[in-house]
Amino acid sequence: AKEQGGARFRRFTQAMNDDVTRRLAIEKSIRKGLENDEFVVFYQPRVDITTGQVTGMEALVRWARPDGTLVPPLEFIPVAEDTGLVVALGERVLRDACIQTRRWTDELGPLRIAVNISARQFQPDLLDRVQAALAESGLPPSQLELEITETTMMRDLPTSVAILERLAEQGISIAIDDFGTGHSSLYYLKNFPIDTIKIDRSFVRDVPGDEGDATIVSTIVTMGRNLSLNVVAEGVETDDQLDFLRAHGCREVQGYYYSKPLPADGFADWMRAALS
Ligand code: C2E
Ligand code: CA
Ligand code: CA
Ligand code: CA
Repeated sequence: AKEQGGARFRRFTQAMNDDVTRRLAIEKSIRKGLENDEFVVFYQPRVDITTGQVTGMEALVRWARPDGTLVPPLEFIPVAEDTGLVVALGERVLRDACIQTRRWTDELGPLRIAVNISARQFQPDLLDRVQAALAESGLPPSQLELEITETTMMRDLPTSVAILERLAEQGISIAIDDFGTGHSSLYYLKNFPIDTIKIDRSFVRDVPGDEGDATIVSTIVTMGRNLSLNVVAEGVETDDQLDFLRAHGCREVQGYYYSKPLPADGFADWMRAALS
């Protein structure tokens, strides 16, 4: 029995070492990727379905590896988050996205750029970093929205309120990302200076077929409208979803129905085609 336990223990520590080794390897290559500028920002349009106009876009990071592969964020953001590298990465995304949006403004209009902010970035010094990105790019604060999840906001409520109020004072918009998936969604609406709620894709996916989801989505839309918030439905892919959202007064949508996230050049081409 003792031997068996020992073997099991060795297997366990071996697995742990593998995991640690793997994470160290990922951490090292993220660091190198940052040095070599391998992270690129993709853009996905947000559309006002009452006017057909593009109101802005979300910045979504991709990792373009030297071997030509494009790594999706869910494969490296968690490690970047654990190691703290997400702060440097997020700062890069914020800066690039602001510069690009400013560059596009003359030709494509005053689009609003939405940038994801991870828990590690959501600290009091965020305001300085955001101001630096706005100053460097020349982008007006009214064209910047920060997407923050409920989980991030929940970690330290007094600090969250203080950070969000300072951002709001600067004229920067705040969106609650993945709305409805957290624990106290309504609390945030009452206590935080929120401009936008983004209904999580998990609720939108089975609309209109799933009655429960349909009720949840239409209720969020109505509540958001009554609170004068922008309500964005995420992950819209089909005509049926769009018809449902329109019928229930949802104003803005984002999803493959209009476009997948595109690299900067592709997004500009898509916009020109949409405008012509
Ligand atoms: P998110 O912020 O909820 O972003 C929306 C995700 O849904 C994106 O995945 C987008 O490509 C995907 N999506 C949009 N429309 C559709 C649709 O119609 N159908 C389907 N199936 N998917 C759709 P993506 O780009 O893989 O990003 C995944 C997550 O990674 C994001 O979720 C966000 O949490 C995180 N992320 C991405 N970029 C950044 C970043 O710059 N910083 C941080 N901290 N996190 C980021
Ligand atoms: Ca987001
Ligand atoms: Ca989301
Ligand atoms: Ca999400």
